[in-house]
Amino acid sequence: MSERTRFNLDETKLPKAWYNINADMPVAPQPVLHPGTLQPVTPDFLSALFPMSIIMQEVSTERWIEIPEPVRDIYRLWRPTPMCRAVRLEKALDTPAHIYYKYEGASPVGSHKPNTAVAQAFFNKEAGTKAMTTETGAGQWGTALAMACNFFGIGLEVYMVNVSYHQKPYRRVVMENYGATVYASPSKQTHYGSRLLKVDPASPGSLGIAISEAVESAATSNGGKKYGIGSVLGHVLLHQTVIGLESLDQMEMAGEYPDIVIACAGGGSNFAGFAYPFIHRNLRDGKRTRVIAVEPASCPSLTKGKYTFDFGDTAAMAPVVKMYTLGHTFIPPGIHAGGLRYHGMAPSVSALVDHGDVEARAVKQIETFQAAVAFSRAEGVIPAPESAHAIRAAIDEALQCKAEGKKKVIAFNLSGHGHFDMTAYDAFHRGELVDYEYPQQMVEEAMQHLPKVGG
Ligand SMILES: *Cc1c(COP(=O)(O)O)cnc(C)c1O
Repeated sequence: MSERTRFNLDETKLPKAWYNINADMPVAPQPVLHPGTLQPVTPDFLSALFPMSIIMQEVSTERWIEIPEPVRDIYRLWRPTPMCRAVRLEKALDTPAHIYYKYEGASPVGSHKPNTAVAQAFFNKEAGTKAMTTETGAGQWGTALAMACNFFGIGLEVYMVNVSYHQKPYRRVVMENYGATVYASPSKQTHYGSRLLKVDPASPGSLGIAISEAVESAATSNGGKKYGIGSVLGHVLLHQTVIGLESLDQMEMAGEYPDIVIACAGGGSNFAGFAYPFIHRNLRDGKRTRVIAVEPASCPSLTKGKYTFDFGDTAAMAPVVKMYTLGHTFIPPGIHAGGLRYHGMAPSVSALVDHGDVEARAVKQIETFQAAVAFSRAEGVIPAPESAHAIRAAIDEALQCKAEGKKKVIAFNLSGHGHFDMTAYDAFHRGELVDYEYPQQMVEEAMQHLPKVGG
């Protein structure tokens, strides 16, 4: 008999509440600081950017936070997402390991990002928000929020990192299709963007710069616009936990429990969304699942950065948080996993890595694309280059099992499909990709520009 490969949940199994890891964190939370005063932020400062309901989620220590019915209604357009056993990949690797993947590429925009976009648009609508602003790197977050804002009748202004704007024109069109207005960042729309363009009219931009522009646009709108963020903050990670909660049920259907859980980490949201419900089991039930966050060697915040207070954005306008960071002045190399180019990492993910509950690993670009292509040839799905980092680690773990003759259960999150990333795959097949390791010396240099917290 052939092995069962798909573990589909029906709609009635859609989670009713998000899991809030703040209730179970093994270490005390660090304060979020105002970028100007470096004192703990007041709700006032945050309320220029977010509705109060979202600010309350950010600080909540309630373990379960109810998912509003209108959000669940939209989730049902694609959730629960599939959990598959990659039997053909196991065979190709000739490994005794069992490999499972949760497929978030099944959402309409092709990634996990609408899980929070829909929630953020809902809470904004409820608070009377008429328009939102946001940044987008590779374009996945912008497309997700564009779809979500459209569902709730909210206008959206997107600052898209200049290089991606030109490298991925179709992403812009997708956003416009949902009714959003898209600017290449740096742009002339904001003071900060205009200032940068004067110095360097051809600036490639960065996620940090785009965040600064989107924040400036919302903060100076006199309440007319609110800001939506695609990763890093606690409420975003919270909304993503539907991924892991469904996965727990699906692993139960499969009659197995993961020894190793893996996801890629840019700002940390798909990682947290997938892994936190498993970490909950580790903390609550004494399970011993190894949890691995995988990042690019070219943007190694967890493996080479410093765990310290830093600004969330480049212009030092966003709150200061304690996180693993390469420095807010980090300008990323032009690697193809655009969604993994942020200088920092979510504070809760950072704290869990620091405390030893999560392992961090960096992988290089070429081996990552090799893993992506091996995965497509075995399983059919072409992964986003970001997700391919998780695949690389999953394959490496499976090969380790083979070497040791151990049958372990490995589960990873396939955060999105790669259909808009063919330029990257093309470069890989032509042998044009290069490996680049971010130099430690540049991290040290950037540490000179950290905010002087407590100094
Ligand atoms: C944005 C994105 C990521 C990285 O963001 P996280 O917040 O770290 O999850 C990973 N995979 C895909 C497909 C993305 O779109």
